Amino acid sequence: MKRMLFVFAAAAVIVTAAPSTADAQYSSRQVRVDVQRTSLSRDQEIQIGKQAAAQVERESEIIHNPEIEAWLNQIGQRLAKTPQARDYPYYFKLVNDDSINAFALPGGPMYVNTGLIKAADNEGEVAGVLAHEMSHVALRHGAAQISKQQTYGALFGILGAAAGTFTSGQNGECGFLCQMSQLGVGIGAGSVLMKFSRGYERDADLNGARMMAAAGYDPIELPRFFEKLQAKQGTAGEPRGLGLWLASHPATGSRIQYVQQDIRFYPQHTYNASTGEFSHIKKLVAVLPPPIPQPGKLIQLADSPTPRANLPEGYKDYPANGFSIAYPSHWQAGQPESASSLYIVPQGGAVKGQNGGTELLLGAMIDYYVPKAGASKVQLAESTAEFIDALEKGDTNLKAGKPTPTTVGGHDALVTHITTKTSLKQEPDQIVYLYTVPRQSGLWYLVLATMPSVQKAFDPIARAMVQSVIFPSEQRPAVR
Ligand SMILES: [Zn+2]
Repeated sequence: MKRMLFVFAAAAVIVTAAPSTADAQYSSRQVRVDVQRTSLSRDQEIQIGKQAAAQVERESEIIHNPEIEAWLNQIGQRLAKTPQARDYPYYFKLVNDDSINAFALPGGPMYVNTGLIKAADNEGEVAGVLAHEMSHVALRHGAAQISKQQTYGALFGILGAAAGTFTSGQNGECGFLCQMSQLGVGIGAGSVLMKFSRGYERDADLNGARMMAAAGYDPIELPRFFEKLQAKQGTAGEPRGLGLWLASHPATGSRIQYVQQDIRFYPQHTYNASTGEFSHIKKLVAVLPPPIPQPGKLIQLADSPTPRANLPEGYKDYPANGFSIAYPSHWQAGQPESASSLYIVPQGGAVKGQNGGTELLLGAMIDYYVPKAGASKVQLAESTAEFIDALEKGDTNLKAGKPTPTTVGGHDALVTHITTKTSLKQEPDQIVYLYTVPRQSGLWYLVLATMPSVQKAFDPIARAMVQSVIFPSEQRPAVR
């Protein structure tokens, strides 16, 4: 550790004023923190962050509590105004998740888990984590990593490789199912929520500490909180998700030591920024209801599914977090992109649409529709009507019949017969059976689509699939 500090000191001596340095207003004897070079433009960076944010919000429950949101944003915007934040359009949202985590996406969207606030002992610690994460944005760490690993084009043309199971087909116009799936197009959070190098971590600590000081928070709270968490590893009081948190923020030697070295150069020595609301906010966070699983999670395969024995012959099961459905063994099930709907199709049943989405030609697609009024307001007839209305607006070829009552998985459901057109040149006509079931997280829907020429063969498969659907009981998990 001592040796590392010596290297820093030596490096500091030879620092010259370079245009890329992020800390021009500080002493030339301080460790220099650089803004990373990246082939992404600032606009592209912001665009990538927006797409990843859409995916995060499909998989995580964002808490809309005005008091907590206002408090979080008050701290965040105070930090965002400092020169070290480099003027990105930051915003801050609270995620209902008790594992300890917080992350900022390229361009500025930032998410803070309830678990982080629960693990913090004062406002400065929360501000420290925000400042550290915002520094990854300001120093363009995510953007640099993305441009190093993948080209921008590859990120947006993700489908090709990921689809594997789908043959590419005609690139005609994008039918309604194609447009629907485009709503889910995004880049995997996994490709953005990356593990940074030790060098980036240290830079985020230093830039973050300077940001803290400029905002009036005691900068030492930043490294102190990181080290406090590290010390809890392996103890009885270890917060949930700490292992993951530590893995994505690799140790960089003594954070406290090198930040302390840096603080000596700061112009300001009294730090009294505080909303004064921390203990009140902690109380509010402590009594929040447990999280509601989100659609993005519910359509993913369950971690430890219970095998089902009574499937029709020649069928296998797709046991997702929110439901299970059987499908013909030779079909393929999966998400062509990480944030997309679930597709269950025979070879060639889905193709890459003209503008990057997935178009369903033959087979099934499953997802949840969240009504405009919110998931908690889902009602079978109303939400189905609203959904079909939205589909009709997006596809001029779409004609929907009258929804008919039925049951799916023992629940009241509706089935709606729809006709539309696909991009398939030989046979553009498409017949669709749309099944809808109200669930806690939105209106669950199953789309079964076929061309008229194979409808006779398709119908018994469609029936078997519908009949195989089961839903687990839907209750909020017990309060932890
Ligand atoms: Zn970090």
